[in-house]
Amino acid sequence: MSTHPFQELMNAVVDGGYCIGCGLCAAVERSPVRMRLDEDGAYQPALVADPAAGPTDTRVLEVCPFTGQGPDEDDLASSLFAPAPHRGDLGYHLTTYAGYAAEGDFRAQGSSGGMAKWLLAELLEQGLVDRVLQVRETEPDAAGPALFEYGVDDTVEGVHTGSRAAYHPVEMSQAIEFVRAHPGRYVITGVPCFIKGIRRLAVTDPVIAERVRFTVGIICGHLKTTGYAESLAWQLGIPPQELAGIDFRTKLPGRTAREKGVTAYAADGRASEPRVVQDLVGTKYPYGFFKYSACNFCDDVLAETADVAVGDAWLPEYVGSGNSVVVVRSEPIRVLLEDGRAAGRLHLEHIDPDRAAATQAGGLRDRRQGLSYRLHLTRRAGRWHPPKRVTPSNELALPTRLLYRLRMEIPRRSIAAFRRARVEQDLHGYLRRMRRWTRLYDLVVRLGRLRARTVAVLARVGIGGRPGVRGR
Ligand SMILES: Cc1cc2nc3c(=O)[nH]c(=O)nc-3n(C[C@H](O)[C@H](O)[C@H](O)COP(=O)(O)OP(=O)(O)OC[C@H]3O[C@@H](n4cnc5c(N)ncnc54)[C@H](O)[C@@H]3O)c2cc1C
Ligand code: SF4
Ligand code: SF4
Repeated sequence: MSTHPFQELMNAVVDGGYCIGCGLCAAVERSPVRMRLDEDGAYQPALVADPAAGPTDTRVLEVCPFTGQGPDEDDLASSLFAPAPHRGDLGYHLTTYAGYAAEGDFRAQGSSGGMAKWLLAELLEQGLVDRVLQVRETEPDAAGPALFEYGVDDTVEGVHTGSRAAYHPVEMSQAIEFVRAHPGRYVITGVPCFIKGIRRLAVTDPVIAERVRFTVGIICGHLKTTGYAESLAWQLGIPPQELAGIDFRTKLPGRTAREKGVTAYAADGRASEPRVVQDLVGTKYPYGFFKYSACNFCDDVLAETADVAVGDAWLPEYVGSGNSVVVVRSEPIRVLLEDGRAAGRLHLEHIDPDRAAATQAGGLRDRRQGLSYRLHLTRRAGRWHPPKRVTPSNELALPTRLLYRLRMEIPRRSIAAFRRARVEQDLHGYLRRMRRWTRLYDLVVRLGRLRARTVAVLARVGIGGRPGVRGR
């Protein structure tokens, strides 16, 4: 007897560590699963009914973004955006910009240039959508450790209540249920795998296809479990059991975009002093503290299936004080942005696609070179992994392989160390344990650089430099 698709999903994706907790399997019609935060603070689906007992939507394996069935990012994007120009790192792109929203306080209140919320507000104002689905802080009295959730807005004022970047678990099952129950035209924000899942759901579900008119992709390094917010807040003086809210992107006067502030809020209304991320343990993104394991098997940085992708313009000329990189794939979005520029409401400069890709160089390297090595390791261990658009490979220099191994190990270690810290009420033990790993990581980075320099020098004098050996 063949396994029920929901059981297969649970066995292969969830138990395999490939579930990003998007909630779409709980959003298919008559789903037997519900989303819950697991003991490590990651949203995961749990079976609440026997899938074989009732009439469920058996196409769930074509919806979940981490299975081996259904269309991949290339299939989805080509059906949506071809014949726009395409490249392997950016995906399809009609136009690429860097800049910010010049009007109102979109930029001051935004994560980077305030472009995401400007676009959401403009889609509403121009009558292109009726409602916006975006992430916002949970109500202060909400039970449970999830500090962010998807909410629905139908006014520009409502759009302004959306959160800055939420490095925190969110899931979409209730948002999708809302769409099903309320006819209208929607725009939704999401990290790349969430948008891929929405696009796959739209292929199997005509109601979603008809109602979700636009998608705004949030360029993504990786997603964090609740431990990330809790560990930062604890370092700011607010222990996990008192934490009620966090702002990961407080803009600090006189600081550059890289020097983001973090502010934590306690249930009794207290706010911590904002502190610059570089002063807090676990905030350097490549370390991967509290990273969902699914993110180790992701190959889409720039939300290739979204109508538009927004991220931080990490380029020397733009890191000053909040600039977005914007990759536009659909014509109505291009028109909105061009009109906004012409009216002086946006300060956007056209940038070369190479420069747009360069803003995400680290993320792309990890999701190409790093992923190829992780796929190799997974295959060597005889484990299944979701099909990826990257070929498995072991062709990396030793320090680089060590680095990618650490990027898999540190997330696990941070989650385990924090679990222990919570039980023992010992923040300092957690910090001590994790500093050992960050020091090791930094050492391996230095070794890699030294090796790369040595290989280059030897090559210059004609000794031993093997072309094609990649160092970092
Ligand atoms: C988990 C995560 C990882 C990221 N990694 C990178 C990266 O590697 N490189 C990079 O350049 N940028 C990354 N970003 C994006 C960046 O931090 C900003 O979110 C982006 O530049 C948009 O800024 P803005 O000023 O245009 O957005 P704003 O105008 O401030 O609007 C932000 C919008 O994003 C929505 N939002 C916030 N968090 C989430 C979320 N978790 N899921 C769905 N929607 C959300 C909000 O509801 C709001 O509508 C990441 C963001 C997140 C959430
Ligand atoms: S990734 Fe999303 S759809 Fe797939 S199992 Fe996890 S929650 Fe369900
Ligand atoms: S890194 Fe990839 S899998 Fe992880 S949250 Fe971002 S888009 Fe999803």
